[in-house]
Amino acid sequence: MSSDGVSAREGEHPAPRSAIRSAVLVLNQNYQPLNICDVRRAISLLGRGKAETLDVDGLYIRSAYLTMRAPTVIRLVYLVKRPLHQRRLSRREVFVRDGYRCQYCGVETKHLTLDHVIPRSRGGLQTWTNVVSACTECNHRKAGRTPAEAHMRLLREPHPPRPNPYAFFHVGQVMDAWRPFLPWLEVEVNGHGALTPVAAGG
Ligand SMILES: [Zn+2]
Repeated sequence: MSSDGVSAREGEHPAPRSAIRSAVLVLNQNYQPLNICDVRRAISLLGRGKAETLDVDGLYIRSAYLTMRAPTVIRLVYLVKRPLHQRRLSRREVFVRDGYRCQYCGVETKHLTLDHVIPRSRGGLQTWTNVVSACTECNHRKAGRTPAEAHMRLLREPHPPRPNPYAFFHVGQVMDAWRPFLPWLEVEVNGHGALTPVAAGG
């Protein structure tokens, strides 16, 4: 038993022992999803006044101090500043950032290439601000030149994508009870019936 003093004892609706391990969505003070913890940890945060309950399920959890319904969503009462994990630069992430759109002619296509705005032969770096999605025609036309030299204009300045606030969901499952608190999360059902978050748009 942990120092939380939490245990599922006999009661009107005793929760199965496993309930204490159920997943709880933790929102930051600003309602941004922060992470996932278990009921035991959530009750500890609630008991110490560090969080408030936003949603509960039907199971009762009894501790030494109180009987409560098991939380499914809690919100911290203070703002956690967390490190913003920058997304790794990859072909796919660049295409996603650019909406699968050639950044020169604007055509939307799955047949994209990575274009270095300042060509690598001219010292251009493989960075978020120097790589864009380009269709094969535009890439071929631009060749080893800068956009100015090739008389081609970028639709917009390339920039790093915003960090994905839902990245921590990739290994977890999204409970139905969490959905109202995750308005921007798109989910798709994979072959195993599990919910797999789609990366939030940058
Ligand atoms: Zn193009």
